[in-house]
Amino acid sequence: MFKALVIEKDAAGYRAGIQQVDDSALPPGDVTVRVEYSTINYKDGLAITGKAPVVRSFPLHAGIDFAGTVETSDDPRYKAGDRVVLNGFGVGESHSGGLAQKARVKADWLVPLPEGLTTRQAMAIGTAGYTAMLCVMALERHGIVPGAGDILVTGANGGVGSVAIALLSGLGHRVIASTGRPEEADYLKSLGAADIIHRDELSSPGKPMGKERWIGVVDSVGSHTLANACAGTRYGGAVTACGLAQGLDFPASVAPFILRGITLYGIDSVMAKLSVRMPAWERLARDLDLTKLDAVTRQITLADALQAGPDILAGKVRGRLVVDVNA
Ligand code: NDP
Repeated sequence: MFKALVIEKDAAGYRAGIQQVDDSALPPGDVTVRVEYSTINYKDGLAITGKAPVVRSFPLHAGIDFAGTVETSDDPRYKAGDRVVLNGFGVGESHSGGLAQKARVKADWLVPLPEGLTTRQAMAIGTAGYTAMLCVMALERHGIVPGAGDILVTGANGGVGSVAIALLSGLGHRVIASTGRPEEADYLKSLGAADIIHRDELSSPGKPMGKERWIGVVDSVGSHTLANACAGTRYGGAVTACGLAQGLDFPASVAPFILRGITLYGIDSVMAKLSVRMPAWERLARDLDLTKLDAVTRQITLADALQAGPDILAGKVRGRLVVDVNA
């Protein structure tokens, strides 16, 4: 028997709870993993609370991320004892996931834990941090180098935002952090933010084009914030859009695209190919300051994860939550 955070939906309604289950509760897959750590991302909050229909199969173990050790494998790429990381691929949505002491998945979905990272650090990074890395890599592919101009990071206190600030500042970029929690300015500065702006500056309907303020953007907020981030991007700059904390809409103008030649990159972590994931994880192991990662991370138990779900949706979580599923 093992513990899992189980989501159920039936005549009695939608609910999440910690249950003791056995291996028959695991879905088909070629690798069974003893999970050591998982994490709480925004999407996990949606799954635990049922606030958006991200869970599409019931009952299901929540958790879009996990890191742990292979117990058994029918795939030649993995053997018992290997340490692995999983992010996305519908795990925790349509296939039972990482908020459990065991998981069974397709080998194609796994990434070997990069040298230099523990399973706990991998989950402190989680989908949020790996997505931040995908955004940074997109800005780099665009040709944005340190010193080229400021980089705006929205949703700065969130998981994507916090890791993006640490990564970008560590690489030598000057970062402007946009936040609704200016009282966390010291925290954001300790991660490497050079300037802090209030998110109210960006979250209401704005002009089609504004003053040129930043050369690159990591946006996890969407809606008017993304539109205003585009409107403030310097000539030839790039904006990466990965989230919707403010909203799914994108009420923007084409003006900055056709008059300033800016580029908008959509970032998806869930179905990204292994050829994209592996370099992102290698870069995280190499470029992320693990002291800063520690500073953004708080550890909780599987039982605590039930409350962490509504908390992350309410914007009450700072940085990253790691779940010790064995505590
Ligand atoms: P968090 O909840 O940790 O962070 C979101 C942050 O956004 C909050 O901390 C807050 O930052 C800010 N925020 C919250 N509500 C609002 C609002 N109404 N208006 C403006 N800002 C707001 O979530 P994550 O960092 O884990 O994820 C962020 C977003 O990215 C989510 O929408 C998530 O679904 C998406 N995502 C997408 C991925 C992909 O593959 N494309 C992968 C991972 C995440 P502050 O308090 O500093 O203002």
